[in-house]
Amino acid sequence: MAARMASPAVGLSPAFTLISASQPAQRLRAAPAQTPVQSTASAGRPSGSFLFSASAFGAAVASGLQASRFGKRRSGTVCRATAVLNNAEKLAVPAKILDHVDIFIFDCDGVIWRGDSLIPGIPQVIANLRAEGKKLFFVTNNSTKSRAGYKSKFTSLGLDVQPEEIFSSSFAAAAYLEQTNFKQTGKKVYIIGEKGIGEELDLVGVPWLGAEADKDHQPNMGSGGRVEVDHNVGAVVVGFDRHINYYKLQYAQLCLNELPGCEFIATNLDRVTHLTDAQEWAGNGTMVGAVSGCTGREPTLVGKPAPLMIDYISKKYGITDRSRICMVGDRLDTDIAFGRNNGLKTCLTLSGVTSEDELMDRVPRKKGTEGIQPEFYVETINDFYPGVAR
Ligand SMILES: [Mg+2]
Repeated sequence: MAARMASPAVGLSPAFTLISASQPAQRLRAAPAQTPVQSTASAGRPSGSFLFSASAFGAAVASGLQASRFGKRRSGTVCRATAVLNNAEKLAVPAKILDHVDIFIFDCDGVIWRGDSLIPGIPQVIANLRAEGKKLFFVTNNSTKSRAGYKSKFTSLGLDVQPEEIFSSSFAAAAYLEQTNFKQTGKKVYIIGEKGIGEELDLVGVPWLGAEADKDHQPNMGSGGRVEVDHNVGAVVVGFDRHINYYKLQYAQLCLNELPGCEFIATNLDRVTHLTDAQEWAGNGTMVGAVSGCTGREPTLVGKPAPLMIDYISKKYGITDRSRICMVGDRLDTDIAFGRNNGLKTCLTLSGVTSEDELMDRVPRKKGTEGIQPEFYVETINDFYPGVAR
């Protein structure tokens, strides 16, 4: 997949180029600025508990994208990030974070859990943070589940997390489509991905096809063989898909190459992911790269490190001082880049994909992570409370 620099298109400063050169391609598109309409996400929908507004999120998407386009907020932020390059501090005094942060945004995979295994001590850490009055959000680029699905996962792991505290890239895709008035076009979405994206699209009333229904499809590749596509597809959303196959790729290729105006949306561009706690696995960058490769197109990115989710949180909770927010994650190229590019404090955990040797440049960095440094790092977030049993 050809990585396209965001900076020329969005008017960012050279300082941003330094960071973005090591980031996956982001296509930052200006969505129409409009007054958000009342969300339909909760009106007459099956998951009535998910009340936070996809429309409001999408409004933040639109405004955030437009802000990025004119390069005001981002350019200043990235200058600051550049100034502290190679200065990550191992957190020995928790007060250095806890006394200066009101809101924590936690990545999930590699921070809260690994695969389906809860990292020991996390429930107590979350309880302690809540007891101190900290506001907590849980943000994941993993699109395989909807917010309802993640709520169930938190519950199954014994964690009491509220629906409005969860942000998944499946939700971000749905919110983006809602705010850009996709539903009003009368068109459908073709999904490469698992059930999370479809569940979120159902909540905003956007019709879709593909996903798990196509997991066993094999195209006819004999003489005269062809894949027929629904000519009413107006967008292809690509998320992590353990059942990716040639039929789905051909379907997406035909939609994007042959249907006028068909949008290409990526939930995330993560290169690797933690399917199990035994090794790294090919991430959604694989699926997006395959579609980019056969279309020559770059996607609109809605997950981290795109600014969409933090713009929503800031708008919803009236947050003006982003230095009081700390992004905690295990990935340099998504979590830490997301935090740094958006003016947040950043804390890397070594409980996921990044090793201390890599962070300290004692071994070669993974491609795409060069030059990205957090302000602090910890073994796990248990280090916020050294007395917590692990
Ligand atoms: Mg992670």
